[in-house]
Amino acid sequence: MEPIVIIGSGLAGVSFARQYRKLERNAPLVMVTADDGGFYSKPSLSGALAGRKTAQKLLLKNAAALRRELNATLLTDVAIVRIDTASQVVSGPSGELGYSRLVLALGSDPARLPLAGDGTEDVLSVNDLGSYARFRDAIHGRNSVTILGAGLVGCEFANDLLAAGYAVDVIDIASQPLPRLLPPEPAMALRDALGEAGVRWHLGRAAVSVARTDAMQSRSPLVVTLDDGRTIQADVVLSAAGVEPRTHLAEAAGLAVNRGIVVDAFLRSSDRHIFALGDCAEMNGSMRPHVAPIALGARALAWSFHKKEHAANYPPMPVIVNTPALPVVACPPQIDDTGRWHVRRLSGGMLARFINHEGRLMGFALTGSACAKRHDLVRELSAPLPG
Ligand SMILES: Cc1cc2nc3c(=O)[nH]c(=O)nc-3n(C[C@H](O)[C@H](O)[C@H](O)COP(=O)(O)OP(=O)(O)OC[C@H]3O[C@@H](n4cnc5c(N)ncnc54)[C@H](O)[C@@H]3O)c2cc1C
Repeated sequence: MEPIVIIGSGLAGVSFARQYRKLERNAPLVMVTADDGGFYSKPSLSGALAGRKTAQKLLLKNAAALRRELNATLLTDVAIVRIDTASQVVSGPSGELGYSRLVLALGSDPARLPLAGDGTEDVLSVNDLGSYARFRDAIHGRNSVTILGAGLVGCEFANDLLAAGYAVDVIDIASQPLPRLLPPEPAMALRDALGEAGVRWHLGRAAVSVARTDAMQSRSPLVVTLDDGRTIQADVVLSAAGVEPRTHLAEAAGLAVNRGIVVDAFLRSSDRHIFALGDCAEMNGSMRPHVAPIALGARALAWSFHKKEHAANYPPMPVIVNTPALPVVACPPQIDDTGRWHVRRLSGGMLARFINHEGRLMGFALTGSACAKRHDLVRELSAPLPG
């Protein structure tokens, strides 16, 4: 019998393997990863600079320790380049591996903005321990960082860089920070709190080019030009413009792919032996590139592999934004929910509720002191429909 094979040793791959091992101590399990197999918490990367944490300090477990914990074969520095669905084999540069069932936990790449200029190669992004180490090296001894993108990662880095003593500019084409998570009023409260802490915002503007001030010097300051012609000079430019799910392997293997690898409620792809979990997977037209749904999906998938099919039913899962200048918790309504935001100011915070035409809570956003109400609101969101 061929083993279960997991491609990817990030949060999705490791969470699934951990859950599966709770149920099946000895069934053969092989994990293959393009990186060195070191396990870390990705959300910690955008809150570690002020605490002077090196990449080494953020490493929770090296490959050898992970191998022992999971009682699994862990193949590191092996990039899988092909999946043969007919013969149930994956191939890397130096060989093939058969699978009984295959879990794709491939993650996502940072999205690249279409920028002109000779400084585009110098634009950094942080998506793993290695790129965190490179970013940390790049800002060492420098003063200013410009961040492209005011989403969760951009806002968290802005707060962390300020706390670490840097001058920070943030650019976003949206007119507010956290455009996918927050309605305007709480978003403006976050804008103001980070602004008071020192962030210089450039909202409603697109960066169009990044150029070196000295074409011959790789560490020369960079000039970011906005679509209104204004320029910002920065020692380092960090792109935090969202993610692109890694789908090329699945696509080349003939699996159904939309934005992500399309899976059903059981995390099964269009091939019945192949499953997908984490940033690379798309269910019901939604991507869920966050920690909580990965943990929940990993548990459901482990049960499906152990006994019988277990659907990954996602309850309301708020996203916690690590911006100490103004803590934020957001649980946005679904894209097709209709209704209206009702915003209440509390002392030291804001409570925004998205209510549909039947008076039912469909989503919420909390800032500051109101974040303490998170559990009550999740309970209200999860309450069964009357009748
Ligand atoms: C800076 C930052 C901060 C974040 N903060 C938060 C937060 O506060 N809250 C939250 O909920 N979420 C947060 N997220 C998102 C969350 O961290 C991710 O959703 C999650 O870590 C994704 O895990 P994953 O296993 O799907 O992908 P990854 O961790 O990227 O793992 C992908 C794995 O696949 C491997 N791989 C890829 N292709 C191949 C191949 N061809 N062959 C072999 N191996 C391959 C890679 O080597 C890697 O091991 C943050 C993300 C970032 C970048």
